[in-house]
Amino acid sequence: MSPEECAAADAVVDFDAEQASCPACGAQFETAAATRCPDCGLNFG
Ligand SMILES: [Zn+2]
Repeated sequence: MSPEECAAADAVVDFDAEQASCPACGAQFETAAATRCPDCGLNFG
């Protein structure tokens, strides 16, 4: 993986983790039932 790809992958929400942070607003939320950011409404689906 190139450094560019690695940086891009880092901005993707990791739904395998218990908690993730929104790439748009940085809000932390639980991934369990989330398909969109509870703070800004960004859709991850
Ligand atoms: Zn957000």
